Amino acid sequence: MIDEWGERYLSRRRFLKVSASLAFFSALACCPIAARAQLGKKGYIGTKLSAHFLPLANQRIQCQLCPRRCSVAEGQRGFCGVRENRGGKYYSLVYANPCAAHLDPIEKKPFFHLLPASTSFSIATAGCNLRCKFCQNWEISQAKPEDTYNLDMSPEKVVAIAKKVRARSIAYTYVEPTIFFEYMIDTARLAKKEGILNVCHSNGFINPGPLKELCQVLDAANIDLKGFTEDYYSSMSQGQLAPVLQTLKILKEQNVHLEITNLVVPTKNDDLKTVRQMGAWIKKELGAGTPVHFSRFYPLYKLRNLPPTPVSILEKSRQTAMETGLEYVYIGNVPGHEGERTFCPRCKKLLIGRQGYTISEVNLSQGKCRFCGQPIPGIWT
Ligand code: SF4
Repeated sequence: MIDEWGERYLSRRRFLKVSASLAFFSALACCPIAARAQLGKKGYIGTKLSAHFLPLANQRIQCQLCPRRCSVAEGQRGFCGVRENRGGKYYSLVYANPCAAHLDPIEKKPFFHLLPASTSFSIATAGCNLRCKFCQNWEISQAKPEDTYNLDMSPEKVVAIAKKVRARSIAYTYVEPTIFFEYMIDTARLAKKEGILNVCHSNGFINPGPLKELCQVLDAANIDLKGFTEDYYSSMSQGQLAPVLQTLKILKEQNVHLEITNLVVPTKNDDLKTVRQMGAWIKKELGAGTPVHFSRFYPLYKLRNLPPTPVSILEKSRQTAMETGLEYVYIGNVPGHEGERTFCPRCKKLLIGRQGYTISEVNLSQGKCRFCGQPIPGIWT
Protein backbone atom coordinates (compact mmCIF):
# COMPACT_ATOMS: atom_id res chain seq x y z
CA MET A 1 0.00 0.00 0.00
CA ILE A 2 1.51 3.33 -1.02
CA ASP A 3 0.60 6.26 1.19
CA GLU A 4 0.27 9.93 0.40
CA TRP A 5 4.00 10.39 0.77
CA GLY A 6 4.73 7.84 -1.90
CA GLU A 7 2.22 9.31 -4.29
CA ARG A 8 3.31 12.88 -3.80
CA TYR A 9 7.05 12.54 -3.73
CA LEU A 10 7.97 9.69 -5.93
CA SER A 11 6.48 10.53 -9.24
CA ARG A 12 8.85 10.54 -12.18
CA ARG A 13 8.05 14.17 -12.88
CA ARG A 14 8.97 15.22 -9.39
CA PHE A 15 12.20 13.26 -9.58
CA LEU A 16 13.25 14.91 -12.80
CA LYS A 17 12.38 18.36 -11.52
CA VAL A 18 14.32 18.00 -8.30
CA SER A 19 17.31 16.40 -9.93
CA ALA A 20 17.58 19.02 -12.63
CA SER A 21 17.46 21.90 -10.18
CA LEU A 22 20.20 20.44 -8.03
CA ALA A 23 22.36 18.69 -10.56
CA PHE A 24 25.50 20.69 -9.89
CA PHE A 25 25.86 19.72 -6.26
CA SER A 26 25.75 16.00 -6.50
CA ALA A 27 25.96 15.37 -2.76
CA LEU A 28 22.46 16.84 -2.57
CA ALA A 29 21.96 16.82 1.15
CA CYS A 30 19.10 19.24 0.54
CA CYS A 31 16.95 16.77 -1.41
CA PRO A 32 16.16 14.27 1.31
CA ILE A 33 16.02 17.01 3.90
CA ALA A 34 13.39 18.90 1.93
CA ALA A 35 11.25 15.78 1.73
CA ARG A 36 11.34 14.97 5.39
CA ALA A 37 10.78 18.50 6.63
CA GLN A 38 7.48 18.63 4.80
CA LEU A 39 6.15 15.18 5.56
CA GLY A 40 7.95 13.62 8.50
CA LYS A 41 7.13 13.88 12.18
CA LYS A 42 9.80 15.36 14.40
CA GLY A 43 11.24 12.86 16.86
CA TYR A 44 9.20 9.91 15.65
CA ILE A 45 11.33 6.88 16.48
CA GLY A 46 10.91 3.14 16.18
CA THR A 47 12.77 0.54 18.23
CA LYS A 48 14.09 -2.89 17.33
CA LEU A 49 16.18 -5.26 19.40
CA SER A 50 19.70 -5.54 18.00
CA ALA A 51 21.13 -8.97 17.24
CA HIS A 52 24.68 -7.63 17.52
CA PHE A 53 25.57 -6.94 21.14
CA LEU A 54 27.17 -8.78 24.05
CA PRO A 55 25.80 -8.52 27.59
CA LEU A 56 28.40 -7.37 30.15
CA ALA A 57 28.24 -7.09 33.96
CA ASN A 58 25.87 -4.63 35.68
CA GLN A 59 23.52 -4.40 32.71
CA ARG A 60 26.21 -2.92 30.49
CA ILE A 61 26.39 -4.13 26.91
CA GLN A 62 29.01 -4.04 24.17
CA CYS A 63 27.81 -3.30 20.66
CA GLN A 64 29.34 -5.57 18.02
CA LEU A 65 28.22 -3.76 14.89
CA CYS A 66 31.18 -1.55 14.16
CA PRO A 67 34.85 -1.33 15.18
CA ARG A 68 34.08 1.14 17.98
CA ARG A 69 32.56 -1.72 19.99
CA CYS A 70 30.90 0.78 22.31
CA SER A 71 30.53 -0.35 25.88
CA VAL A 72 27.23 1.20 26.97
CA ALA A 73 25.72 1.52 30.45
CA GLU A 74 22.00 0.98 31.11
CA GLY A 75 19.99 3.94 29.83
CA GLN A 76 22.86 5.26 27.69
CA ARG A 77 23.53 5.32 23.94
CA GLY A 78 26.51 4.40 21.80
CA PHE A 79 28.70 6.80 19.84
CA CYS A 80 26.32 6.84 16.84
CA GLY A 81 23.47 8.15 19.02
CA VAL A 82 20.83 5.81 17.59
CA ARG A 83 21.32 2.70 19.78
CA GLU A 84 20.27 2.55 23.39
CA ASN A 85 20.78 0.19 26.30
CA ARG A 86 17.40 -0.50 27.89
CA GLY A 87 17.56 -2.89 30.81
CA GLY A 88 20.71 -4.62 29.56
CA LYS A 89 19.41 -5.09 26.04
CA TYR A 90 20.51 -3.02 23.08
CA TYR A 91 17.97 -1.41 20.78
CA SER A 92 18.08 0.44 17.49
CA LEU A 93 16.02 3.64 17.76
CA VAL A 94 15.65 4.21 14.03
CA TYR A 95 13.91 1.09 12.80
CA ALA A 96 11.40 1.91 10.04
CA ASN A 97 11.75 5.65 10.63
CA PRO A 98 13.91 7.14 7.89
CA CYS A 99 14.52 10.86 7.97
CA ALA A 100 15.43 10.85 4.28
CA ALA A 101 13.85 9.03 1.36
CA HIS A 102 14.30 9.95 -2.25
CA LEU A 103 14.37 8.57 -5.75
CA ASP A 104 17.88 9.10 -7.14
CA PRO A 105 19.71 8.28 -10.35
CA ILE A 106 22.05 5.37 -9.66
CA GLU A 107 24.87 7.57 -10.93
CA LYS A 108 24.40 9.82 -7.91
CA LYS A 109 25.34 7.12 -5.39
CA PRO A 110 27.76 6.97 -7.31
CA PHE A 111 27.61 3.67 -9.16
CA PHE A 112 28.97 3.84 -12.71
CA HIS A 113 29.05 0.09 -13.34
CA LEU A 114 25.51 -0.77 -12.32
CA LEU A 115 22.42 -0.50 -14.53
CA PRO A 116 23.19 2.89 -16.11
CA ALA A 117 20.29 5.38 -16.15
CA SER A 118 18.28 3.35 -13.65
CA THR A 119 16.82 4.83 -10.48
CA SER A 120 17.44 3.84 -6.90
CA PHE A 121 15.03 4.40 -4.04
CA SER A 122 17.31 5.79 -1.35
CA ILE A 123 16.75 5.84 2.39
CA ALA A 124 18.61 6.99 5.49
CA THR A 125 17.97 7.53 9.16
CA ALA A 126 19.66 9.96 11.53
CA GLY A 127 23.08 9.09 12.94
CA CYS A 128 26.59 8.00 11.98
CA ASN A 129 29.53 6.16 13.49
CA LEU A 130 32.12 8.64 12.18
CA ARG A 131 32.58 12.40 12.64
CA CYS A 132 33.90 13.56 9.27
CA LYS A 133 34.72 17.26 9.26
CA PHE A 134 33.75 17.42 5.58
CA CYS A 135 30.44 15.57 5.89
CA GLN A 136 28.05 16.59 3.14
CA ASN A 137 24.99 15.30 4.98
CA TRP A 138 25.96 16.44 8.47
CA GLU A 139 22.49 17.78 9.26
CA ILE A 140 21.20 14.22 9.46
CA SER A 141 24.37 12.19 10.04
CA GLN A 142 25.30 14.14 13.15
CA ALA A 143 21.74 14.39 14.49
CA LYS A 144 19.91 12.30 17.04
CA PRO A 145 16.74 10.60 15.80
CA GLU A 146 14.55 12.64 18.14
CA ASP A 147 15.79 15.80 16.43
CA THR A 148 15.03 14.84 12.83
CA TYR A 149 11.73 14.67 10.94
CA ASN A 150 11.10 10.98 10.46
CA LEU A 151 8.76 9.03 8.26
CA ASP A 152 6.77 5.92 9.12
CA MET A 153 8.13 3.52 6.52
CA SER A 154 8.33 -0.17 7.30
CA PRO A 155 10.58 -2.44 5.22
CA GLU A 156 7.42 -3.65 3.45
CA LYS A 157 6.52 -0.09 2.58
CA VAL A 158 10.01 0.72 1.30
CA VAL A 159 9.87 -2.25 -1.05
CA ALA A 160 6.31 -1.42 -2.14
CA ILE A 161 7.31 2.15 -2.98
CA ALA A 162 10.41 0.97 -4.85
CA LYS A 163 8.23 -1.35 -6.92
CA LYS A 164 5.61 1.30 -7.51
CA VAL A 165 8.15 3.77 -8.90
CA ARG A 166 10.01 1.02 -10.77
CA ALA A 167 13.29 1.60 -8.99
CA ARG A 168 15.72 -1.13 -9.94
CA SER A 169 17.49 -0.88 -6.61
CA ILE A 170 17.10 0.27 -3.04
CA ALA A 171 20.04 2.29 -1.74
CA TYR A 172 21.03 2.53 1.91
CA THR A 173 22.88 5.79 1.84
CA TYR A 174 23.30 9.47 2.87
CA VAL A 175 24.57 8.46 6.36
CA GLU A 176 26.43 5.33 7.42
CA PRO A 177 23.89 2.51 6.92
CA THR A 178 25.60 0.27 9.50
CA ILE A 179 23.91 2.34 12.19
CA PHE A 180 20.47 1.34 10.86
CA PHE A 181 21.58 -2.23 10.26
CA GLU A 182 18.36 -3.99 11.33
CA TYR A 183 16.21 -1.77 9.13
CA MET A 184 18.59 -2.18 6.20
CA ILE A 185 18.82 -5.95 6.36
CA ASP A 186 15.10 -6.56 6.85
CA THR A 187 14.35 -4.31 3.89
CA ALA A 188 17.09 -5.91 1.80
CA ARG A 189 15.76 -9.42 2.42
CA LEU A 190 12.30 -8.40 1.22
CA ALA A 191 13.71 -6.52 -1.75
CA LYS A 192 15.76 -9.52 -2.83
CA LYS A 193 12.61 -11.66 -2.95
CA GLU A 194 11.03 -9.06 -5.23
CA GLY A 195 14.01 -8.97 -7.60
CA ILE A 196 15.09 -5.48 -6.53
CA LEU A 197 18.83 -4.92 -6.09
CA ASN A 198 20.25 -3.80 -2.76
CA VAL A 199 23.07 -1.27 -2.86
CA CYS A 200 24.76 0.79 -0.20
CA HIS A 201 27.07 3.74 0.07
CA SER A 202 29.05 3.16 3.21
CA ASN A 203 32.13 4.32 5.07
CA GLY A 204 33.08 0.65 5.45
CA PHE A 205 33.36 1.03 9.23
CA ILE A 206 31.59 -2.20 10.11
CA ASN A 207 32.67 -5.43 11.79
CA PRO A 208 33.21 -8.57 9.68
CA GLY A 209 30.35 -10.56 11.29
CA PRO A 210 27.47 -8.21 10.44
CA LEU A 211 29.12 -7.37 7.12
CA LYS A 212 29.12 -11.01 6.02
CA GLU A 213 25.47 -11.31 7.08
CA LEU A 214 24.69 -8.27 4.97
CA CYS A 215 26.63 -9.65 2.00
CA GLN A 216 24.03 -12.44 1.71
CA VAL A 217 21.56 -9.87 0.37
CA LEU A 218 23.77 -7.01 -0.81
CA ASP A 219 24.40 -6.67 -4.54
CA ALA A 220 26.70 -3.68 -4.64
CA ALA A 221 28.60 -1.35 -2.34
CA ASN A 222 30.28 1.97 -2.89
CA ILE A 223 32.76 2.38 -0.06
CA ASP A 224 34.28 5.69 0.92
CA LEU A 225 38.01 5.25 1.16
CA LYS A 226 38.45 8.67 2.67
CA GLY A 227 42.22 8.66 2.71
CA PHE A 228 45.04 6.19 2.90
CA THR A 229 46.70 6.93 6.24
CA GLU A 230 45.61 6.23 9.79
CA ASP A 231 46.43 9.87 10.64
CA TYR A 232 43.92 11.14 8.12
CA TYR A 233 41.15 8.86 9.38
CA SER A 234 41.84 9.76 12.97
CA SER A 235 42.15 13.53 12.53
CA MET A 236 39.41 14.07 9.95
CA SER A 237 36.82 11.42 10.82
CA GLN A 238 37.58 10.01 14.29
CA GLY A 239 37.88 6.69 12.48
CA GLN A 240 40.46 4.10 11.47
CA LEU A 241 41.75 3.02 8.08
CA ALA A 242 42.51 -0.66 8.81
CA PRO A 243 38.88 -1.79 9.35
CA VAL A 244 37.84 -0.08 6.11
CA LEU A 245 40.51 -1.96 4.16
CA GLN A 246 39.29 -5.18 5.76
CA THR A 247 35.72 -4.37 4.68
CA LEU A 248 36.88 -3.83 1.10
CA LYS A 249 38.59 -7.22 1.04
CA ILE A 250 35.54 -8.99 2.50
CA LEU A 251 33.21 -7.40 -0.06
CA LYS A 252 35.51 -8.59 -2.81
CA GLU A 253 35.68 -12.13 -1.37
CA GLN A 254 31.90 -12.22 -1.03
CA ASN A 255 31.38 -11.23 -4.68
CA VAL A 256 29.58 -7.99 -3.92
CA HIS A 257 30.03 -5.51 -6.78
CA LEU A 258 32.39 -2.89 -5.41
CA GLU A 259 33.14 0.73 -6.28
CA ILE A 260 35.26 3.13 -4.24
CA THR A 261 34.90 6.84 -3.63
CA ASN A 262 37.73 9.08 -2.48
CA LEU A 263 36.66 12.62 -1.60
CA VAL A 264 39.66 14.76 -2.45
CA VAL A 265 39.98 17.50 0.15
CA PRO A 266 42.51 20.10 -0.95
CA THR A 267 45.70 20.17 1.15
CA LYS A 268 44.40 17.32 3.35
CA ASN A 269 44.50 14.10 1.31
CA ASP A 270 45.66 15.16 -2.15
CA ASP A 271 49.28 14.08 -1.82
CA LEU A 272 50.04 12.11 -5.00
CA LYS A 273 52.46 9.74 -3.29
CA THR A 274 49.64 8.57 -1.03
CA VAL A 275 47.24 8.41 -3.98
CA ARG A 276 49.77 6.15 -5.73
CA GLN A 277 49.99 3.87 -2.69
CA MET A 278 46.21 3.70 -2.52
CA GLY A 279 45.91 2.85 -6.22
CA ALA A 280 48.55 0.11 -5.92
CA TRP A 281 46.78 -1.39 -2.89
CA ILE A 282 43.41 -1.40 -4.69
CA LYS A 283 44.90 -3.07 -7.74
CA LYS A 284 46.70 -5.74 -5.71
CA GLU A 285 43.93 -6.55 -3.23
CA LEU A 286 40.74 -5.82 -5.16
CA GLY A 287 41.72 -5.95 -8.81
CA ALA A 288 42.51 -3.50 -11.60
CA GLY A 289 38.85 -3.52 -12.65
CA THR A 290 37.62 -1.90 -9.41
CA PRO A 291 36.01 1.46 -10.30
CA VAL A 292 37.41 4.37 -8.29
CA HIS A 293 35.78 7.81 -8.08
CA PHE A 294 37.83 10.87 -7.13
CA SER A 295 35.12 13.20 -5.94
CA ARG A 296 35.27 16.96 -5.71
CA PHE A 297 34.98 18.48 -2.24
CA TYR A 298 32.81 21.54 -1.63
CA PRO A 299 33.27 23.59 1.54
CA LEU A 300 30.74 22.32 4.07
CA TYR A 301 30.28 21.62 7.74
CA LYS A 302 33.60 22.07 9.59
CA LEU A 303 35.77 22.70 6.54
CA ARG A 304 34.13 25.81 5.17
CA ASN A 305 37.48 27.56 5.20
CA LEU A 306 38.79 25.44 2.34
CA PRO A 307 38.07 26.09 -1.36
CA PRO A 308 36.39 23.50 -3.61
CA THR A 309 38.93 20.99 -4.89
CA PRO A 310 40.67 22.46 -7.95
CA VAL A 311 39.82 20.35 -11.00
CA SER A 312 43.53 20.09 -11.82
CA ILE A 313 44.12 18.23 -8.54
CA LEU A 314 41.33 15.77 -9.34
CA GLU A 315 42.85 15.23 -12.76
CA LYS A 316 46.29 14.55 -11.26
CA SER A 317 44.80 12.09 -8.74
CA ARG A 318 43.00 10.31 -11.56
CA GLN A 319 46.11 10.17 -13.72
CA THR A 320 48.20 8.86 -10.82
CA ALA A 321 45.70 6.12 -10.01
CA MET A 322 45.53 5.10 -13.67
CA GLU A 323 49.32 4.88 -13.77
CA THR A 324 49.13 2.25 -11.02
CA GLY A 325 47.13 0.10 -13.42
CA LEU A 326 43.55 0.82 -12.36
CA GLU A 327 41.30 0.61 -15.39
CA TYR A 328 38.22 2.61 -14.39
CA VAL A 329 39.09 5.83 -12.62
CA TYR A 330 36.51 8.62 -12.53
CA ILE A 331 36.16 12.23 -11.53
CA GLY A 332 33.00 13.04 -9.60
CA ASN A 333 31.11 16.28 -8.92
CA VAL A 334 32.47 17.96 -12.06
CA PRO A 335 29.62 17.61 -14.58
CA GLY A 336 30.73 17.45 -18.18
CA HIS A 337 34.30 16.39 -17.40
CA GLU A 338 35.73 13.60 -19.52
CA GLY A 339 36.55 11.77 -16.28
CA GLU A 340 32.85 11.01 -15.86
CA ARG A 341 32.83 8.70 -18.85
CA THR A 342 33.67 5.00 -19.07
CA PHE A 343 36.19 3.86 -21.65
CA CYS A 344 37.11 0.34 -22.67
CA PRO A 345 40.51 -0.50 -21.16
CA ARG A 346 41.40 -2.60 -24.21
CA CYS A 347 40.26 -0.70 -27.33
CA LYS A 348 39.92 2.71 -25.54
CA LYS A 349 36.54 3.42 -27.16
CA LEU A 350 33.73 5.14 -25.28
CA LEU A 351 31.56 2.63 -23.43
CA ILE A 352 29.25 4.86 -21.40
CA GLY A 353 28.76 8.56 -22.07
CA ARG A 354 27.77 10.62 -19.00
CA GLN A 355 27.10 14.27 -18.30
CA GLY A 356 26.25 14.69 -14.66
CA TYR A 357 23.51 12.13 -14.11
CA THR A 358 22.50 11.98 -17.76
CA ILE A 359 23.55 8.98 -19.83
CA SER A 360 24.12 9.81 -23.48
CA GLU A 361 25.15 6.38 -24.78
CA VAL A 362 25.89 2.84 -23.63
CA ASN A 363 28.09 0.71 -25.86
CA LEU A 364 27.88 -2.55 -23.93
CA SER A 365 26.44 -5.82 -25.05
CA GLN A 366 25.85 -8.47 -22.41
CA GLY A 367 28.43 -6.90 -20.14
CA LYS A 368 31.09 -6.66 -22.86
CA CYS A 369 32.53 -3.84 -24.92
CA ARG A 370 30.44 -3.61 -28.09
CA PHE A 371 33.55 -2.87 -30.17
CA CYS A 372 36.16 -5.39 -29.01
CA GLY A 373 34.29 -7.81 -26.71
CA GLN A 374 36.28 -6.97 -23.56
CA PRO A 375 34.27 -8.03 -20.45
CA ILE A 376 33.51 -4.98 -18.28
CA PRO A 377 33.03 -5.54 -14.53
CA GLY A 378 29.67 -4.54 -13.14
CA ILE A 379 25.98 -5.39 -12.97
CA TRP A 380 24.55 -4.67 -16.38
CA THR A 381 21.35 -6.72 -16.62
S1 SF4 B 1 27.13 0.94 15.71
FE1 SF4 B 1 27.01 2.70 17.11
S2 SF4 B 1 26.77 1.82 19.15
FE2 SF4 B 1 27.50 0.17 17.80
S3 SF4 B 1 29.72 0.17 18.06
FE3 SF4 B 1 29.25 1.45 16.29
S4 SF4 B 1 29.07 3.56 17.08
FE4 SF4 B 1 28.97 2.15 18.84
